[in-house]
Amino acid sequence: MSIRPRVLFLYTGGTLGMSKRAVDPAHADSPFGVPLAPSLVAEDVFAYVRGLEEEVSVEAELLCNLDSSDMGPSHWARIGGAIAARMQRYDGFVVLHGTDTMAWTACALSFALRGLPKPVVLTGSQRPIAFVRTDARVNLVHSALCATMDVPEVGIYFGRWLFRGNRATKTSIQSYDAFESPDLAPLVEMGVEVLRRTPPRVPAGPFAPAFAFEEAVAVLDVVPGSAPYVLAAAVAGGAKGVVLRGFGAGNVPQRGWPDAIRAAVTVGVPVALHTQCLRGTVDLRAYEGGRAALDAGALPTGSMTVEAATVKLMFLLAQGLTEEDLRVAYQADLAGEGAASAP
Ligand code: ASP
Repeated sequence: MSIRPRVLFLYTGGTLGMSKRAVDPAHADSPFGVPLAPSLVAEDVFAYVRGLEEEVSVEAELLCNLDSSDMGPSHWARIGGAIAARMQRYDGFVVLHGTDTMAWTACALSFALRGLPKPVVLTGSQRPIAFVRTDARVNLVHSALCATMDVPEVGIYFGRWLFRGNRATKTSIQSYDAFESPDLAPLVEMGVEVLRRTPPRVPAGPFAPAFAFEEAVAVLDVVPGSAPYVLAAAVAGGAKGVVLRGFGAGNVPQRGWPDAIRAAVTVGVPVALHTQCLRGTVDLRAYEGGRAALDAGALPTGSMTVEAATVKLMFLLAQGLTEEDLRVAYQADLAGEGAASAP
Protein backbone atom coordinates (compact mmCIF):
# COMPACT_ATOMS: atom_id res chain seq x y z
CA MET A 1 0.00 0.00 0.00
CA SER A 2 1.42 3.38 -0.99
CA ILE A 3 1.96 5.97 1.69
CA ARG A 4 -0.30 8.96 1.18
CA PRO A 5 1.16 12.43 1.73
CA ARG A 6 -0.07 14.12 4.89
CA VAL A 7 -1.76 17.50 4.55
CA LEU A 8 -3.04 19.65 7.41
CA PHE A 9 -6.01 21.95 6.79
CA LEU A 10 -6.00 25.02 8.99
CA TYR A 11 -9.45 26.56 9.10
CA THR A 12 -9.73 30.32 9.61
CA GLY A 13 -13.18 31.14 8.20
CA GLY A 14 -14.46 32.89 5.07
CA THR A 15 -17.38 32.31 2.71
CA LEU A 16 -16.35 28.67 2.12
CA GLY A 17 -17.75 27.65 5.51
CA MET A 18 -20.46 30.26 5.87
CA SER A 19 -24.19 29.79 5.90
CA LYS A 20 -27.21 32.03 5.83
CA ARG A 21 -28.09 33.45 9.21
CA ALA A 22 -31.69 33.60 10.41
CA VAL A 23 -33.76 35.10 7.63
CA ASP A 24 -34.02 38.82 8.05
CA PRO A 25 -36.28 40.53 5.49
CA ALA A 26 -34.28 43.72 5.98
CA HIS A 27 -31.35 41.96 4.25
CA ALA A 28 -33.23 40.42 1.34
CA ASP A 29 -31.19 42.58 -1.04
CA SER A 30 -27.98 40.58 -0.30
CA PRO A 31 -26.87 38.49 -3.34
CA PHE A 32 -27.28 35.41 -1.13
CA GLY A 33 -30.74 36.40 0.15
CA VAL A 34 -29.36 37.20 3.60
CA PRO A 35 -25.83 38.13 4.66
CA LEU A 36 -23.50 35.19 5.13
CA ALA A 37 -21.89 34.57 8.50
CA PRO A 38 -19.26 32.05 9.70
CA SER A 39 -20.77 28.68 10.66
CA LEU A 40 -19.12 25.52 9.34
CA VAL A 41 -15.92 24.41 11.01
CA ALA A 42 -12.76 22.43 10.26
CA GLU A 43 -13.46 18.68 9.74
CA ASP A 44 -16.97 19.41 8.43
CA VAL A 45 -15.48 20.39 5.08
CA PHE A 46 -14.19 16.88 4.37
CA ALA A 47 -17.78 15.62 4.13
CA TYR A 48 -18.04 17.60 0.90
CA VAL A 49 -14.92 16.18 -0.77
CA ARG A 50 -15.28 12.45 -0.46
CA GLY A 51 -12.57 10.63 -2.39
CA LEU A 52 -9.82 13.07 -1.50
CA GLU A 53 -8.76 10.68 1.27
CA GLU A 54 -7.78 8.11 -1.37
CA GLU A 55 -4.92 10.36 -2.49
CA VAL A 56 -4.09 12.47 0.54
CA SER A 57 -4.19 11.84 4.26
CA VAL A 58 -6.01 14.92 5.56
CA GLU A 59 -6.40 16.32 9.05
CA ALA A 60 -7.98 19.60 10.09
CA GLU A 61 -7.63 22.14 12.86
CA LEU A 62 -9.73 25.17 13.65
CA LEU A 63 -7.67 28.30 14.24
CA CYS A 64 -10.51 30.81 14.10
CA ASN A 65 -13.78 31.30 12.26
CA LEU A 66 -13.87 34.81 10.91
CA ASP A 67 -14.80 36.88 7.93
CA SER A 68 -11.32 37.73 6.69
CA SER A 69 -12.11 41.46 6.88
CA ASP A 70 -11.72 40.97 10.63
CA MET A 71 -8.27 39.40 10.36
CA GLY A 72 -4.92 41.16 10.70
CA PRO A 73 -1.31 40.80 11.85
CA SER A 74 -2.17 38.90 15.04
CA HIS A 75 -3.99 36.27 12.95
CA TRP A 76 -1.12 36.16 10.43
CA ALA A 77 1.25 35.39 13.30
CA ARG A 78 -1.11 32.75 14.67
CA ILE A 79 -1.46 30.96 11.32
CA GLY A 80 2.29 31.15 10.68
CA GLY A 81 3.06 29.94 14.20
CA ALA A 82 0.70 26.96 13.80
CA ILE A 83 2.38 25.99 10.53
CA ALA A 84 5.89 26.37 11.94
CA ALA A 85 5.06 24.27 15.01
CA ARG A 86 3.69 21.43 12.83
CA MET A 87 6.26 21.63 10.01
CA GLN A 88 7.82 18.22 10.71
CA ARG A 89 4.53 16.34 10.97
CA TYR A 90 3.02 17.17 7.56
CA ASP A 91 4.06 17.25 3.90
CA GLY A 92 2.04 20.37 3.19
CA PHE A 93 -0.55 22.80 4.55
CA VAL A 94 -3.82 24.23 3.28
CA VAL A 95 -5.16 27.39 4.92
CA LEU A 96 -8.91 27.87 4.43
CA HIS A 97 -9.40 31.62 4.41
CA GLY A 98 -11.83 34.31 3.30
CA THR A 99 -11.01 35.75 -0.08
CA ASP A 100 -11.24 39.43 0.91
CA THR A 101 -7.85 39.58 2.65
CA MET A 102 -6.37 36.28 1.49
CA ALA A 103 -3.66 38.03 -0.54
CA TRP A 104 -2.61 40.03 2.54
CA THR A 105 -2.27 36.91 4.67
CA ALA A 106 -0.39 35.16 1.86
CA CYS A 107 2.11 38.04 1.70
CA ALA A 108 2.57 37.99 5.46
CA LEU A 109 3.20 34.24 5.53
CA SER A 110 5.59 34.47 2.57
CA PHE A 111 7.78 36.98 4.42
CA ALA A 112 7.42 35.43 7.87
CA LEU A 113 8.04 31.78 6.93
CA ARG A 114 11.64 32.37 5.81
CA GLY A 115 13.28 29.34 4.25
CA LEU A 116 9.90 27.56 3.99
CA PRO A 117 10.64 23.94 3.02
CA LYS A 118 7.07 22.74 2.23
CA PRO A 119 3.98 24.03 0.39
CA VAL A 120 1.49 26.29 2.16
CA VAL A 121 -1.63 26.85 0.04
CA LEU A 122 -4.32 29.36 0.89
CA THR A 123 -7.75 28.86 -0.60
CA GLY A 124 -11.39 29.73 -0.11
CA SER A 125 -14.42 30.19 -2.31
CA GLN A 126 -16.87 32.68 -3.71
CA ARG A 127 -19.91 30.58 -2.69
CA PRO A 128 -20.20 28.39 0.43
CA ILE A 129 -19.31 24.70 0.20
CA ALA A 130 -22.80 23.75 1.37
CA PHE A 131 -24.37 25.39 -1.71
CA VAL A 132 -24.92 23.12 -4.73
CA ARG A 133 -23.42 25.66 -7.13
CA THR A 134 -20.20 26.13 -5.22
CA ASP A 135 -16.61 26.67 -6.29
CA ALA A 136 -15.34 25.46 -2.91
CA ARG A 137 -15.06 21.76 -3.67
CA VAL A 138 -12.75 22.12 -6.64
CA ASN A 139 -10.62 24.75 -4.89
CA LEU A 140 -10.28 22.56 -1.84
CA VAL A 141 -9.39 19.36 -3.72
CA HIS A 142 -6.87 21.11 -5.97
CA SER A 143 -5.34 22.96 -3.03
CA ALA A 144 -4.82 19.68 -1.20
CA LEU A 145 -3.12 18.20 -4.27
CA CYS A 146 -0.94 21.32 -4.73
CA ALA A 147 0.07 20.99 -1.07
CA THR A 148 1.59 17.60 -1.92
CA MET A 149 3.66 18.96 -4.82
CA ASP A 150 7.29 19.98 -4.82
CA VAL A 151 6.41 23.69 -4.50
CA PRO A 152 7.89 25.00 -1.23
CA GLU A 153 6.11 28.36 -1.42
CA VAL A 154 3.18 30.20 0.08
CA GLY A 155 0.59 29.99 -2.70
CA ILE A 156 -3.00 30.97 -3.35
CA TYR A 157 -5.09 28.38 -5.17
CA PHE A 158 -8.18 29.74 -6.88
CA GLY A 159 -10.18 28.87 -10.01
CA ARG A 160 -7.66 26.90 -12.02
CA TRP A 161 -4.40 28.21 -10.75
CA LEU A 162 -1.88 28.03 -7.97
CA PHE A 163 -0.38 31.52 -7.78
CA ARG A 164 2.67 32.66 -5.87
CA GLY A 165 0.80 34.12 -2.90
CA ASN A 166 2.68 37.40 -2.72
CA ARG A 167 2.09 38.09 -6.45
CA ALA A 168 -1.68 37.50 -6.37
CA THR A 169 -4.52 39.94 -5.73
CA LYS A 170 -8.29 39.65 -5.57
CA THR A 171 -9.61 41.29 -8.73
CA SER A 172 -13.22 40.12 -8.90
CA ILE A 173 -16.15 40.15 -6.50
CA GLN A 174 -18.29 38.10 -8.92
CA SER A 175 -16.11 35.65 -10.80
CA TYR A 176 -15.06 32.19 -9.71
CA ASP A 177 -11.66 33.28 -11.05
CA ALA A 178 -11.44 35.84 -8.25
CA PHE A 179 -7.65 36.19 -8.21
CA GLU A 180 -5.02 37.25 -10.70
CA SER A 181 -1.27 37.41 -10.58
CA PRO A 182 -0.70 40.55 -12.64
CA ASP A 183 3.03 40.23 -13.29
CA LEU A 184 3.93 36.59 -12.80
CA ALA A 185 2.53 33.50 -14.52
CA PRO A 186 0.91 31.01 -12.12
CA LEU A 187 3.09 28.36 -10.50
CA VAL A 188 0.70 25.59 -11.53
CA GLU A 189 -2.33 25.33 -13.81
CA MET A 190 -4.81 22.61 -12.89
CA GLY A 191 -6.64 21.66 -16.06
CA VAL A 192 -7.20 18.21 -17.48
CA GLU A 193 -3.47 17.97 -17.04
CA VAL A 194 -1.40 19.54 -14.30
CA LEU A 195 0.89 22.09 -15.92
CA ARG A 196 3.85 23.80 -14.27
CA ARG A 197 4.08 27.42 -15.43
CA THR A 198 6.56 29.36 -13.24
CA PRO A 199 9.30 27.28 -11.58
CA PRO A 200 8.98 27.33 -7.79
CA ARG A 201 11.55 29.04 -5.60
CA VAL A 202 14.19 27.06 -3.81
CA PRO A 203 14.49 27.94 -0.08
CA ALA A 204 17.47 30.31 0.25
CA GLY A 205 18.43 29.18 3.76
CA PRO A 206 17.25 27.17 6.77
CA PHE A 207 13.69 27.52 8.03
CA ALA A 208 13.76 30.60 10.28
CA PRO A 209 10.29 32.04 10.82
CA ALA A 210 9.73 35.52 12.28
CA PHE A 211 6.21 36.69 13.06
CA ALA A 212 6.27 40.39 13.96
CA PHE A 213 4.49 43.08 11.90
CA GLU A 214 4.22 46.84 12.45
CA GLU A 215 0.52 47.69 12.25
CA ALA A 216 0.84 51.47 11.82
CA VAL A 217 1.40 51.49 8.06
CA ALA A 218 -0.87 53.59 5.84
CA VAL A 219 -1.73 53.10 2.16
CA LEU A 220 -2.62 56.39 0.45
CA ASP A 221 -3.84 57.19 -3.06
CA VAL A 222 -2.59 60.34 -4.75
CA VAL A 223 -5.45 62.32 -6.37
CA PRO A 224 -4.63 64.52 -9.39
CA GLY A 225 -4.19 68.12 -8.29
CA SER A 226 -4.44 67.36 -4.58
CA ALA A 227 -2.08 68.80 -2.00
CA PRO A 228 -0.15 66.16 0.02
CA TYR A 229 -2.17 66.76 3.18
CA VAL A 230 -3.07 63.06 3.54
CA LEU A 231 0.62 62.14 3.71
CA ALA A 232 1.37 64.84 6.27
CA ALA A 233 -1.72 63.82 8.25
CA ALA A 234 -0.68 60.15 8.27
CA VAL A 235 2.78 61.00 9.59
CA ALA A 236 1.36 63.41 12.19
CA GLY A 237 -1.16 60.73 13.16
CA GLY A 238 1.57 58.23 14.02
CA ALA A 239 2.11 56.18 10.86
CA LYS A 240 5.44 54.34 11.03
CA GLY A 241 5.49 53.74 7.29
CA VAL A 242 3.50 54.81 4.23
CA VAL A 243 2.77 53.18 0.89
CA LEU A 244 1.85 55.90 -1.57
CA ARG A 245 -0.07 54.92 -4.71
CA GLY A 246 1.01 57.35 -7.39
CA PHE A 247 0.30 57.34 -11.11
CA GLY A 248 1.71 55.19 -13.92
CA ALA A 249 5.36 54.30 -13.40
CA GLY A 250 5.18 55.78 -9.87
CA ASN A 251 4.72 59.48 -10.52
CA VAL A 252 3.43 62.09 -8.09
CA PRO A 253 2.56 65.76 -8.76
CA GLN A 254 5.78 67.73 -8.56
CA ARG A 255 4.13 70.49 -6.54
CA GLY A 256 4.23 69.65 -2.84
CA TRP A 257 4.51 65.85 -2.94
CA PRO A 258 8.31 65.41 -3.14
CA ASP A 259 8.67 67.85 -0.22
CA ALA A 260 6.09 65.93 1.80
CA ILE A 261 7.92 62.66 1.06
CA ARG A 262 11.22 64.23 2.16
CA ALA A 263 9.59 65.49 5.37
CA ALA A 264 8.30 62.00 6.20
CA VAL A 265 11.61 60.28 5.45
CA THR A 266 13.49 62.90 7.51
CA VAL A 267 11.48 62.01 10.62
CA GLY A 268 12.16 58.29 10.06
CA VAL A 269 8.93 57.30 8.27
CA PRO A 270 9.77 55.32 5.12
CA VAL A 271 7.61 56.09 2.08
CA ALA A 272 7.26 53.35 -0.53
CA LEU A 273 6.02 54.58 -3.90
CA HIS A 274 3.53 52.26 -5.58
CA THR A 275 1.21 52.83 -8.51
CA GLN A 276 -2.51 52.90 -9.17
CA CYS A 277 -1.90 50.62 -12.19
CA LEU A 278 -2.53 46.89 -11.78
CA ARG A 279 0.29 45.67 -14.01
CA GLY A 280 3.85 46.65 -14.79
CA THR A 281 6.95 47.71 -12.90
CA VAL A 282 7.33 50.98 -11.04
CA ASP A 283 10.26 52.96 -12.45
CA LEU A 284 10.94 56.17 -10.56
CA ARG A 285 13.56 57.23 -13.10
CA ALA A 286 11.14 57.30 -16.04
CA TYR A 287 9.51 60.73 -15.47
CA GLU A 288 10.23 63.89 -13.51
CA GLY A 289 7.44 63.23 -10.98
CA GLY A 290 8.95 59.88 -10.06
CA ARG A 291 12.53 61.15 -10.15
CA ALA A 292 11.70 63.98 -7.72
CA ALA A 293 10.09 61.48 -5.35
CA LEU A 294 13.12 59.19 -5.63
CA ASP A 295 15.46 62.09 -4.83
CA ALA A 296 13.26 62.89 -1.83
CA GLY A 297 13.85 59.37 -0.50
CA ALA A 298 10.88 57.36 -1.81
CA LEU A 299 11.41 53.60 -2.05
CA PRO A 300 10.51 52.01 -5.41
CA THR A 301 8.12 49.07 -5.22
CA GLY A 302 9.11 47.23 -8.42
CA SER A 303 6.28 44.98 -9.57
CA MET A 304 4.97 44.15 -6.11
CA THR A 305 1.22 44.11 -5.59
CA VAL A 306 -0.01 46.76 -3.19
CA GLU A 307 -0.54 44.00 -0.62
CA ALA A 308 3.07 42.82 -0.96
CA ALA A 309 4.45 46.38 -0.92
CA THR A 310 2.53 47.11 2.28
CA VAL A 311 3.04 43.88 4.19
CA LYS A 312 6.75 43.89 3.33
CA LEU A 313 7.02 47.32 4.96
CA MET A 314 5.01 46.09 7.97
CA PHE A 315 7.32 43.08 8.28
CA LEU A 316 10.61 44.96 7.91
CA LEU A 317 9.57 47.76 10.28
CA ALA A 318 9.10 45.12 12.99
CA GLN A 319 12.55 43.54 12.52
CA GLY A 320 14.54 46.21 14.41
CA LEU A 321 16.56 47.27 11.35
CA THR A 322 18.41 50.57 10.97
CA GLU A 323 16.85 53.01 8.50
CA GLU A 324 19.54 52.21 5.93
CA ASP A 325 19.22 48.44 6.38
CA LEU A 326 15.46 48.72 5.99
CA ARG A 327 15.91 50.66 2.73
CA VAL A 328 18.23 47.96 1.40
CA ALA A 329 16.02 45.08 2.57
CA TYR A 330 12.89 46.71 1.14
CA GLN A 331 14.40 46.80 -2.34
CA ALA A 332 15.82 43.26 -2.07
CA ASP A 333 14.05 40.09 -3.14
CA LEU A 334 12.86 38.38 0.07
CA ALA A 335 10.29 35.88 -1.20
CA GLY A 336 9.89 36.30 -4.95
CA GLU A 337 7.54 39.24 -4.40
CA GLY A 338 8.75 41.31 -7.37
CA ALA A 339 11.05 43.71 -5.49
CA ALA A 340 12.62 46.67 -7.27
CA SER A 341 15.98 44.92 -7.46
CA ALA A 342 14.58 41.56 -8.58
CA PRO A 343 16.13 40.28 -11.84
N1 ASP B 1 -16.14 38.28 3.21
C1 ASP B 1 -15.58 36.97 2.94
C2 ASP B 1 -14.23 36.86 3.60
O1 ASP B 1 -13.27 37.35 3.08
C3 ASP B 1 -15.48 36.75 1.49
C4 ASP B 1 -14.95 35.40 1.09
O2 ASP B 1 -14.56 34.58 1.86
O3 ASP B 1 -14.93 35.16 -0.12
O4 ASP B 1 -14.13 36.27 4.64
